[in-house]
Amino acid sequence: MPTTLSPELQKHLSQLAPDAPMPALFVGHGNPMNAITNNDYTETWQLLGQHLPKPKAILVISAHWLTEGTTHIVTNAHPRTIHDFYGFPEALHRIQYPAVGAPDLAAQIIQMIENPPISGDEQWGLDHGAWCVLKPMFPAANIPVLQLSLDIHSTPQQRYDLGKQLQTLRHQGVMLIGSGNLVHNLRQMNFKMPYQGYDWAQQYDTALAQWIEQNDLPALLDIEQLPSTALAHPTLEHYWPLLYILGSRLETERVWYFNESLDLGSISMRSMVFSGN
Ligand code: ZN
Repeated sequence: MPTTLSPELQKHLSQLAPDAPMPALFVGHGNPMNAITNNDYTETWQLLGQHLPKPKAILVISAHWLTEGTTHIVTNAHPRTIHDFYGFPEALHRIQYPAVGAPDLAAQIIQMIENPPISGDEQWGLDHGAWCVLKPMFPAANIPVLQLSLDIHSTPQQRYDLGKQLQTLRHQGVMLIGSGNLVHNLRQMNFKMPYQGYDWAQQYDTALAQWIEQNDLPALLDIEQLPSTALAHPTLEHYWPLLYILGSRLETERVWYFNESLDLGSISMRSMVFSGN
């Protein structure tokens, strides 16, 4: 199962010019335990972190920060590590990801984006959609991090359009990371199926992967209309971060997949890097 980084992607990243746009990522985060577990997924995150150029800052769009009616951005200089889950071991609750924030960059984004208006937020920090991935990928926590929220009322097109406005940050050394899952049904999860997926989950994941590969935006912006989406995404928040990252995609850019596997039956861990051509 191709969960590790392809040699082509490793080679591409190692040859990336210093002035090339910063790669943009969508990462399937899956089970919060990934933050403290060594498995195929987290080993790939670690390896990717060693190959990626070091960004000036990281902007995370996580499935776990939902706001209503407005889009928020973290303005805190020292964002707290939020343990937004229940029923997990104490060790996971003790995890801290002490990266500093990026209030100046947050201010720049608030000023740069007029539609939708972005509100500064001092209260939020880094939720587990952000730090579960960042901790294995950038363990030194020495890169400033900020988060952008998902307005639950935005349309897919509005999410894509906001992502397009974030594209310019990639030319300034900012890494955009969307954190969610391409298939995410917690009710169907089966712990006897590590690294495996149900047929319906596999088919859904494959269809999305093809549309992303072909940049088939009409299909990707309209997944709510698919009957199979009710099973793949009983709620859509784990899909939404992808739309922002697709918006930030440069015209000639190609997609490189990693962790292309289903896990626990109904979770897609498929992740991707947009970079190069
Ligand atoms: Zn999640």
